[in-house]
Amino acid sequence: MSEEVEITFLGGAKQVGRSCFLVSSQKGNFLLDSGVNLGESEEGKYPLDPPVKPDYIILTHAHLDHSGYVPAILSKYRCKLISTPPTQDITEILATDNLKIAKETGETVPYNMNDVMLIRKNSFDAYFKVRYKLRNDITVTFYNAGHIVGSAMVKLTIGEKNIFYTGDISTRHTRTLEMADFKAEGGDVVIMESTYGSPEDKHPSAQKTERQLISDLNKTIKNNGKVLIPVFAVGRAQEVMITIDDYMRSGKLATAPVFIDGLIIRINELYKLFWEWLKPEIQKRIRYTRQSPLDSDMFYLVKDRESVCQMPEPNIIITTSGMLEGGPSIYYLKRLAGSENNMIYLTGYQVEGTRGRMLLEGAKQIKPPQDELIDVNAKVCFADFSAHADQPGLINFITQLTNKNTILCVHGEETKTIKLSEKLSQIKGVSAYSPSVGETIRV
Ligand SMILES: [Zn+2]
Ligand SMILES: [Zn+2]
Repeated sequence: MSEEVEITFLGGAKQVGRSCFLVSSQKGNFLLDSGVNLGESEEGKYPLDPPVKPDYIILTHAHLDHSGYVPAILSKYRCKLISTPPTQDITEILATDNLKIAKETGETVPYNMNDVMLIRKNSFDAYFKVRYKLRNDITVTFYNAGHIVGSAMVKLTIGEKNIFYTGDISTRHTRTLEMADFKAEGGDVVIMESTYGSPEDKHPSAQKTERQLISDLNKTIKNNGKVLIPVFAVGRAQEVMITIDDYMRSGKLATAPVFIDGLIIRINELYKLFWEWLKPEIQKRIRYTRQSPLDSDMFYLVKDRESVCQMPEPNIIITTSGMLEGGPSIYYLKRLAGSENNMIYLTGYQVEGTRGRMLLEGAKQIKPPQDELIDVNAKVCFADFSAHADQPGLINFITQLTNKNTILCVHGEETKTIKLSEKLSQIKGVSAYSPSVGETIRV
C-alpha cells in the first residue's frame, strides 16, 4: 500500500513571508523552511506551530522569510536540520544579527543565542544532486535554485511519493550565480513560489535594468547628490556591488566613493568563503585575479556614518535593510531623504506594510522607528534586480519538469498565487491550486 502523506501550510501561503510547510507521514515529519514575515510586527509574524514534532527542518536558503524561525523550532523540538553549508552559516549570522537588533529596539524574539548555536550543532551538510537518506524509505535531494549563494530546491521522497519544493528560484543567470537547475525532475506534488506570479509580472532584461540604474546614478552624481541604495544583505547587495564596480571600472559610471555599511560586510565574508558555490565565470575571475570582486578598491567600509552624510562630494551608500525596516538604512534615510538632490534606490521586492513599499507607492512622509515623521523630497527610484523568476520564467520552469501532476502555489500575495495557479492549470495534465495558511492537503 502506498504511503499516506499530508502537507500542512503553517505559513507562506497566499502571502510572502513565514514560509513553513509541514510534510507528515507515518514514517516521519519534515518542515520545509521555517521563516518569519518581515512585514508584520506581531500577529502573523511567525508560522503556526507544527501539530507534531518535526524530525528534520529541510532548509532551502538563508533569507529570513525562510530561515528566521529556525532557531525557535530547533529550541522547541530539538530536531535536526539539513541544508547546504552556506545556508547554515548565513542563517546563523542573520539570526545573531536579529537578536542584536531586538536588544536595541526592545522587541521580543522567540529564541536566544543558545538556540542560535543549535544551528551548527544539529545540522547536516547537503550538496547539490546527492541523495541523502533521512530515515528508512525517506530521502532528500538538493538542486541549485540560482537565488542566493547556497540556495536550493529540494525533492523529498517518501516511499513512492515525491514532493518537490522550489524555495525561491531565479530562472536566469545573475552576476553571481547560475540559474535554477532545469534538469531537476520535479515531483508528484510541486510546491512552487509565486512572488511574481501575475501575468503583468515580467522582468525587464538584466542589461536594461543595469543601464537604467547606471543612468540614474550618473545624473545624481552629476548634481552632487548622494544615493542611498537599501539592499538585502544576502544576494542583492553582492549583485549591486559587482554591477557598480564593473560600470565604474569601464568608465560608464562616474567615479564616486561607494560606501558599504551594515550586515553586508559580514555576509560578503561568507560570499568570499563560499566562492566555489558561485557561478564558474566568477570562480575563474577570482582564481586569475586572486581577488574577490567584493574586495574591489572602489568600495569603502563605513567607519563613521555622519561623516559620510556630511561629505561635500557625491557618494553612493549601499546598506541594509532592503525594505527600510531597520539597520543603517534608517540612519541614512533620516539624513538624506530631505534633499531633492539625493536619491533613494530600491532594488528588490518590497513587502506590503514596509517603509520601502510606502516609498515606492509615493509616500511623501515616512516614520522611522521611535522617531518623528520625516519629509521625503529625495527622488525614489526602483530597479528590478530581482533574484526571483517572473511569470514567464516560472511557467517555463514548470513546463520543463518531467513530474508535475499537482502544483501548489505559495510564497506570493494572494492575487498572485491565484493568478499563477489559474495559468498553470492550463498546462496539459496539471492541476494547480493556491492553498491558505492552516490548510492541510492529502497527497
Ligand atoms: Zn529568498
Ligand atoms: Zn522568499
